[in-house]
Amino acid sequence: MEKPELLIPAGNLEKLRTAILYGADAVYIGVEGLSLRASSSEMSMGDLAAGVNEAHAKGIKVYAAANTFARNADLEHAAEIIPKLAAIGIDAIIVSDPGMIRLIHTLTPDLPIHLSTQANTTNIEAVRFWRDQGVRRIILARELNLKEIGEITAAVPGMELELFVHGAMCMAYSGRCFLSAFRNRRSANEGDCSQPCRWEYLLHESTRPNDPLVLQENERYSYLLSSKDLCLLEYLPEILASGVTSLKIEGRMKSAYYVAIVTRTYRQALAALIQQKEKYNCRPEWIEELTKISNRGYTTGFAFSKEKINETNPEIKYIQTHEPAGTVLQYDPVKKMMLIGVRNHLAAGDALELLLPDDKVLINTHTIIDVHGKTLQEANNDNQIYLPLERAVPVGAVLRQKVK
Ligand code: SF4
Repeated sequence: MEKPELLIPAGNLEKLRTAILYGADAVYIGVEGLSLRASSSEMSMGDLAAGVNEAHAKGIKVYAAANTFARNADLEHAAEIIPKLAAIGIDAIIVSDPGMIRLIHTLTPDLPIHLSTQANTTNIEAVRFWRDQGVRRIILARELNLKEIGEITAAVPGMELELFVHGAMCMAYSGRCFLSAFRNRRSANEGDCSQPCRWEYLLHESTRPNDPLVLQENERYSYLLSSKDLCLLEYLPEILASGVTSLKIEGRMKSAYYVAIVTRTYRQALAALIQQKEKYNCRPEWIEELTKISNRGYTTGFAFSKEKINETNPEIKYIQTHEPAGTVLQYDPVKKMMLIGVRNHLAAGDALELLLPDDKVLINTHTIIDVHGKTLQEANNDNQIYLPLERAVPVGAVLRQKVK
């Protein structure tokens, strides 16, 4: 069985390091300036250069997303950035726009090109077309099912194919939607969707603007446009059998905590699958791990579907059973204490779980000590505290607790 690549989103240096710690084979990042606007999910060129060095030192690849549909006025700017990306050693550039592909061929002909899912590649001839344009890898449309993907890998052998296995889904063909541009001038077509399809909407009758028709399920509003999240963890054998080479997790805008849990879970499942082959079974605790992070209910999307529609969950905005409690900033082997950057609120006696790449450790919070050595009864977001732990743990490991 071929070992597939586990490809993780890394919106900043912290997330890149988290992805490395928890088992990514490759990460993808946004680059400041290439989506042609500032965004919290993009790295500066300086951070990116540092991230590429750190990743390469561990044998991990870094792909830069430039999947905007560029306008004429954007090309000059893109032409400045692309050679810089090649110079700092990124392993591939992800694009959707044929104009960007031509520009890359002209400026940096040796830089591998990955075609974004926003190019909506859905058939064998489209894959051949892009291969003939010098594209190294295609990130397949989320809307394909595994049977169609198997037909593509059989018909176009040797082509690298990447598949989204986890994360948010669109209510349009991926990213081909103006809702975000319309609501707050952030265009999905330029890689900057603010995901307004997840927002709460009310239906108003025009003569009664103050009397909304609430399409209500239980106690909540309805999230009519909000797709469930994709989760294919249970179907890794079927996915590998389809012949794809890279398994991609969505979520450059999501937190380092999300990156940690999803990477760790898929890494453990993939390692078990590669080792156990036909005897492999998806363990219930892996599925449970993914229900502990924020999600809108999970779906297998189009993987087994003949239908050409997506699945919504009108009742749910977000659900999660656990929340981040902190990150390890340092471990002192002499004092046997870990320095923690606190997330959310923590009180002495709270039950915390420290997630290591291959282990979980219950943490005693009866002794919370601040950086001046004073014992505390509680700590708040962004505080730094010491907690005792006998064993050494890596910087960047995350702690969580049940949602209070
Ligand atoms: S608003 Fe929703 S459907 Fe539209 S591009 Fe963004 S995530 Fe996709």
